Amino acid sequence: MKLGQKLAIVNNGATNSYCDKSDSKQVFGTFEWASHNANFISGCQHDCKYCYSKEMAIRFHKKTPGNWHIEEVRTHSLTRKFKRVDGTIMFPSSHDIHPEHLKECLLFLGNILASGNQVLVVTKPHLECIQAICEKFGQFKNNILFRFTIGSADSSNLEFWEPGAPSFPERIEALKWAFHSGFNTSISCEPMLDDTIEDVIRITSPFVTDCIWIGKANFLLRRLKLNGVGDSVTLEKASELLADQSEENILGLFSKFSDNPKVKWKESIKKIVDIDVPTQKGLDI
Ligand code: SF4
Repeated sequence: MKLGQKLAIVNNGATNSYCDKSDSKQVFGTFEWASHNANFISGCQHDCKYCYSKEMAIRFHKKTPGNWHIEEVRTHSLTRKFKRVDGTIMFPSSHDIHPEHLKECLLFLGNILASGNQVLVVTKPHLECIQAICEKFGQFKNNILFRFTIGSADSSNLEFWEPGAPSFPERIEALKWAFHSGFNTSISCEPMLDDTIEDVIRITSPFVTDCIWIGKANFLLRRLKLNGVGDSVTLEKASELLADQSEENILGLFSKFSDNPKVKWKESIKKIVDIDVPTQKGLDI
């Protein structure tokens, strides 16, 4: 598809401007959302096949494909005092919040919040964990924005790509819990894991106070190989997913939701539809 055709679709109700893609300072990944990251665990029981943090840990010989799912708490991090920073701190960004280490998570999150920081809590939510966070940090409602990752409305597909993470119904229950507890809520559909994203948007929207981010699966085949999940079944599913996320389909999705004020587009999609990619960390736009 030619650029002129793309712009015709983008202009269909969109309010975004267009970018010079030669700008080498464009931010992507977690820095689209937050200027700082905070973590205290190495490894993640959710063991998502496409995990970027797993890939990095393997590259730098901190973990192996076989032991990434074993969570190692960096106990010295639990006593860390956080200064107040400009912008938002994303927690966690290289692991997740699992019931096994919930106690430590509450301690660590409390330390970040104690100095008045704004925290973006990003997780594939276990209901038990969200209930505990809401109960403990009720007085910090204005400092916390939840971002629940839900890349599909199909639990079997979630289980395939994210074998240790909660089902779709549990994630929705967790979202409702946070919403009804008075917290600010948002969704990340990055990576989209199939073509059920319209269902995710429809089902989650009534309980989202902030926004719903949509993003493609980045560097999928390379990441699967490095993460030790390059078996034929996974590669076949990955090929289907990449076909689902063709430029044509992404433009169709964009056209459908560009007028929805809750829907935002990650860098992987901004590039396709010619929206400016921010050059400053944590702008969350
Ligand atoms: S939940 Fe996040 S950190 Fe954990 S394995 Fe999945 S992508 Fe990686």
